[in-house]
This record gives sequence, structure tokens and C-alpha cells, in this order.
Amino acid sequence: MQLAKRVSELTPSSTLAITAKAKELRSKGIDVVGLGAGEPDFNTPDHIIEAATQAMKKGFTKYTPASGIPELKQAIVDKFKRDNGLHYEMNQVMVTLGAKHALYNFFQAVCNPGDEVIIPIPYWVSYPEQVKLAEAVPVFVEGNKDNQYKITAEQLEKAITKRTKAFILNSPSNPTGTVYTKEELSEIAEVCKKYDLYVVSDEIYEKLIYDGVEHVSIASLSEDAYQRTVIVNGVSKPYSMTGWRIGYIAGNKELIKVMTDLASHSTSNPVSFAQYGALEAINGPQDELEKMRETFEQRRNILLNLIDEIPGLKAIRPQGAFYVFIDVSEVLTTKSRQFKDADEWAKALLEEAKVAVIPGSGFGAPNHIRVSYATSIEQLQEGMRRIKEFIHSLN
Ligand code: PLP
Repeated sequence: MQLAKRVSELTPSSTLAITAKAKELRSKGIDVVGLGAGEPDFNTPDHIIEAATQAMKKGFTKYTPASGIPELKQAIVDKFKRDNGLHYEMNQVMVTLGAKHALYNFFQAVCNPGDEVIIPIPYWVSYPEQVKLAEAVPVFVEGNKDNQYKITAEQLEKAITKRTKAFILNSPSNPTGTVYTKEELSEIAEVCKKYDLYVVSDEIYEKLIYDGVEHVSIASLSEDAYQRTVIVNGVSKPYSMTGWRIGYIAGNKELIKVMTDLASHSTSNPVSFAQYGALEAINGPQDELEKMRETFEQRRNILLNLIDEIPGLKAIRPQGAFYVFIDVSEVLTTKSRQFKDADEWAKALLEEAKVAVIPGSGFGAPNHIRVSYATSIEQLQEGMRRIKEFIHSLN
């Protein structure tokens, strides 16, 4: 079978692969502790489910405009004003099938073959693949662990060439949970202005933020930053709506028009009644969201303490999202065992200790693992107990 060149190097999502393996073990009756989850473990709040149910009953089960229903686009416009101090017109906003689809369409809309897109390491697994699918070239810049894995404006500038088209920023970050400060973002925005780059600001974890830290959207820092930034966001993570597939993107109106045309010939509209659910999520009461955020913060604190008790594991304190990114390089080589990288280590951990974590290679950081705290405190405790034992058994 002859396949297209564009898919020949496509790698399956590493996050999904380990989750599938853990599920397979569980289906055989094996007690696996899953610390790999990339989605909140709560159900979608009832009032959101009810809104979507009512929408279905009222007959909102048909095609909608490809860019989304006007009510939801208005709610998104209002959200940007309320939360980020940003003014967008309705034609600057598009509803997509999750944030992932917004990003995919963006790269399809702006990249020509050979264009370069700068991606900080560690990165969310889909960025490089999406860039490559648009026949562009991912260019990686490694975030320094001592700077909480964030890259500096200086590092960014060094990576820029004549072919650089865009820079991807993800704050709070998956997988590290780190948050860029206003000052860091200002410096980055200056570099992007100097070299006339698009800024792709993935703000999907905006609402899941801890320690009283403030989320700043780079687009809000100046008129220039506003013009060159596209903001990607969605309801998946904050409202525990990953299966609903509703995300959105805001930016320049010509770009949004092209992206809408693209969607009109590929996916068409995001699911009609899911859009009504998203409308309720954004416009309705926010107390469930705050409860989930508090729960995540409490779990994060517990997990950090548990990690601290395990010699050889090094983690930075995440201030957003629901992951802790752990450097395991010190435990890859022990008296009795030698692991090539964290992939091998995580595979052994799953097979021998029955704990599923995501190895760092998919994030561009092969000596790391990502542990998710989108699970119960009991599971976190049990998982870390098993990890401790596993590490102990290696010596
Ligand atoms: N961006 C980041 C950083 C993510 O972690 C994810 C999901 O894991 C997405 C985007 C995609 O989210 P959605 O479910 O809205 O497509």
C-alpha cells in the first residue's frame, strides 16, 4: 500500500499509546494505577449537560455555520473581554472541534513548505506533528530546567531564521505546568515584533492555575502583540468537556475567514448541541470550575510532597495544568539495571509495578516522565508508593 509522504513520518500520540496499554492491562483484571491522564477525572457539570440536552430536544441537531453559532461566538468575545481585557469582533473568532483542530487549521492556513515554526521543548505532543503535516519544519528551542523549562527571549531570537513563520507559546504548559510571567512575555513579544512572527498562544490551561498566579495572555501586552497573536483555547480542560470537542481560536479576521473556509470543506461545524453546552459552560455559573481548580491544587501539593520523598526524582513546582514533569535521569542507571531512556523506564514501571506514566520522549524530553494528578488522592498515593518501591527494587 502506497501512502502519502506527508503521513510517512507521523508518530502516534505517545500519551494515547500508554493510556491504551494501561486500559488493556486493566481489561485483563490487572490493577493498574493510571497517572497518565490528559483529561480531568470529573464528569462535565450537570448544568452544562442539561443545556446540551435541552438544545437537542429543541431541535438544535442540524448543521450550524462552520465557524460556530453566533451565541457561542458572542460568549467567546465576551469571555476575552472579561478575562483577558481583549476586544475581538465576532468575525475574529471561530469555534473549532477542540483546541487541537484550531491549531491544525491554523498551520494549514499559514504555512508554506519549508517555513519554520519555533517550538519550545518540552512541548505538547501534537505541535511538531501538526507543523509537519502543514509541510513546515519544527525548530526546537530547549527550555532550561533552571528556568522552570521556560525559554528566554534571547534563546528565541537565536533560533529565528529568514524562514521562521511562527512561534508556539503554551502557558500554562503541558507537560511542565509552568507559567510565563508578564515580563517574560513582553520580552518574547518584542522579539516576535522585530522578526514579524505569528505568535500561537495556546491558553487551554488558562483557568487551571495555582498559588494565586495570574494568567497573562501575550496578546494583551500591546497593540502589536494583539495583531500578530492567535489565541487558542477551549472548554475541554476547564469544564471537563474533553469528549465534547469544542475549542476556539481568535485573531486576525482575514485569517479566521480562511480557517472557516478550510473547516467548511473538511469538518464543517463543531457538533451543534455541544456548542450549546459550551455556551452554558462559558456563560453559566463558574463555581464547579473553581471547585475542580481547588481540588487540582490540593492534589498537586500532595503529589509534590510524595515526589520529594523519593530519592532520585527531580520535579519543578508546576503552577498550572494538572501535570508534574519529573526528571528521572538519576534513576535510569542503577546497580542492577540500565535503561536507555525514560520510555524504557516507564515501560518497565508499567509492566513490573503496574503504574502508567507518560514518558518524556513525546514531549521532546527523553529523561523525563509526566505524572498527571487528574486522578484521586488515593491513586496518587498508591501510584507514588509503587514508584518508590520500583526505584528501590532497581538498586
Ligand atoms: N493544547 C494543549 C497544550 C493540550 O494539552 C491539549 C490537550 O491535551 C490541547 C491543546 C487540545 O485540547 P482539545 O481537547 O480542546 O482539543
